[in-house]
Amino acid sequence: MLIIETVQEMRAWSDAERLAGRRIALVPTMGALHEGHLALVRAAQKLGDRVVVSLFVNPAQFAPGEDFAAYPRDFARDRALLEKESADVLFHPSAAEVYPEGFETHIDVERLAPLLCGEFRAGHFRGVATVVAKLFNMVRPRAAVFGEKDYQQLQVIRRMARDLDFDVEIAGHPTVRAADGLALSSRNAYLSAGERRAALSLYRALRSAEALVAQGERSAGRIVAAARAPIEAEPLAEIEYVRLCDPETLMEIPRIERAALLALAVRIGAARLIDNAMLKRD
Ligand code: AMP
Repeated sequence: MLIIETVQEMRAWSDAERLAGRRIALVPTMGALHEGHLALVRAAQKLGDRVVVSLFVNPAQFAPGEDFAAYPRDFARDRALLEKESADVLFHPSAAEVYPEGFETHIDVERLAPLLCGEFRAGHFRGVATVVAKLFNMVRPRAAVFGEKDYQQLQVIRRMARDLDFDVEIAGHPTVRAADGLALSSRNAYLSAGERRAALSLYRALRSAEALVAQGERSAGRIVAAARAPIEAEPLAEIEYVRLCDPETLMEIPRIERAALLALAVRIGAARLIDNAMLKRD
């Protein structure tokens, strides 16, 4: 596996691969890799002849006071995991390489970005959209894989790619969970044993809502109340939002007509955890 740290070297490698007729698939990550990331790498291997995994803890997507400095970093471990998955390139640029002196251009996905997590994390999706657009220009992949755990992020990237004519196929990958249902996340590393038990209430929330919908319930009010109950029963958990939304526009909906996204964000100790489920009428 090649380790590339500069944009210039990344471009040269990518140009040569494309000239040879090979399809590049990109998996953007912030490192502290887990089985969810590795599942994305395997999906990328099916979409492309070469797989680039980027590892960049993007300062632009953290608001002041968020966990940028504390974000888990373990390059040696990440590198070994990616070697084992037979990734072709680990692209690991520095912050100065990505945001050189004088940087001042950003991408605003105007309608989607302020909703849900954007309401609580000012500037977050602006940072995400900007860095992903930059990664697309640095790596020039034909396909890129993103996890559905970060559903709003996936929709923001899809919108950006369409709006700005990026010739990149955006693939979503289902959320990978621990055996007990907790969605894998680099931020789970912040949880103590007791907090991790409390974090299972997010999964219980999704299951409660699904069970209610399976019984025929359509009202957002009652579905959201059923989802909130297991989280509210956990003294360590503090709900940021639990919402039923249109899966495309992410706007709140009063009833499930066809499909709806149940999205939630919860603070537990130092961790801010998100999860979601697509609820469908039978
Ligand atoms: P991150 O390193 O947290 O920025 O995530 C990098 C990519 O991995 C994003 O596309 C995430 O949506 C995806 N991802 C993170 N956790 C999971 C998971 N549990 N299942 C599937 N994809 C995930």
